[in-house]
Amino acid sequence: MKVRAPSRDGAYFDVQKLIHGLSLHTICEEAKCPNISECWGRGTATFQILGDTCTRACRYCYVNSGKPSEPVDPLEPLRLAQAAAQMQLKHVVVTSVDRDDVPDKGAAHYAATIRAIKAKLPNASVEVLTPDFMDVEEQALQTVIGARPEVFNHNIETVRRLHRKMRGGRADYDKALWLLQRAKEIADYPVLTKSGIIVGLGETNDEVVDTLRDLRAHGVDVVTIGQYLQPSAKHAEIDRWVHPDEFRWFREQGEAMGFGTVFSGPLVRSSYRADEQRHAAETGRGAVAY
Ligand code: SF4
Repeated sequence: MKVRAPSRDGAYFDVQKLIHGLSLHTICEEAKCPNISECWGRGTATFQILGDTCTRACRYCYVNSGKPSEPVDPLEPLRLAQAAAQMQLKHVVVTSVDRDDVPDKGAAHYAATIRAIKAKLPNASVEVLTPDFMDVEEQALQTVIGARPEVFNHNIETVRRLHRKMRGGRADYDKALWLLQRAKEIADYPVLTKSGIIVGLGETNDEVVDTLRDLRAHGVDVVTIGQYLQPSAKHAEIDRWVHPDEFRWFREQGEAMGFGTVFSGPLVRSSYRADEQRHAAETGRGAVAY
């Protein structure tokens, strides 16, 4: 796989300057996303709230893991909204680290962020890619959905058999499915739900299809499927390189199940061209492969 290096005449460095200048974080940088040149070059980015240190240590994730040294920054939502406005985003994607050290697991901060974006950019849609809000799931969902994000995303990440092995601790495949279904039940507006699967972690193609079936059975509208890239020697090894034909096959399987859209390809990430994913699902344009 080849990706483009950042170009100095594009929007890449403008995005970088703005984000660093406002002391914001992005999952694009924190997770060393291979699409950063393309996405930032298009003037988009995915914001990461609640700091730069995650209280979990998933075996595939490069985001810094440990005990956060800083409390949650109450002004972060305002700075993020300011950045989104300066970038003239029409679809703002927000994710976070896990904050198991915070009683509500960051749910109120998510809600404050959504509200700040909507106040500053009333015509923009907001997509949140949330953690699992372990032990406070119902309350946290009420809080987040109460702020009315257009897209609620929670990544299942991998197949049932590997879920706990890759995500560790008390991570729960069925709870992830429940979260996605419950978000839709709580919403009194047509929220789009979305989830993502990483392949190359040791799963079989049939298990991927089983996971697609589980997601669809829980009302998920949009699914992303992308190749795992080992971010360091400490992380899980790549089990296999999935062929583009197999990605196409996943897309066809998902399409047959009735997903609004399926983004499936080696470099697809949860937030990759998220604006297009939403548009495709809402307009019934159907599944797309990259
Ligand atoms: S795919 Fe998502 S995380 Fe990766 S660079 Fe693009 S916006 Fe950032």
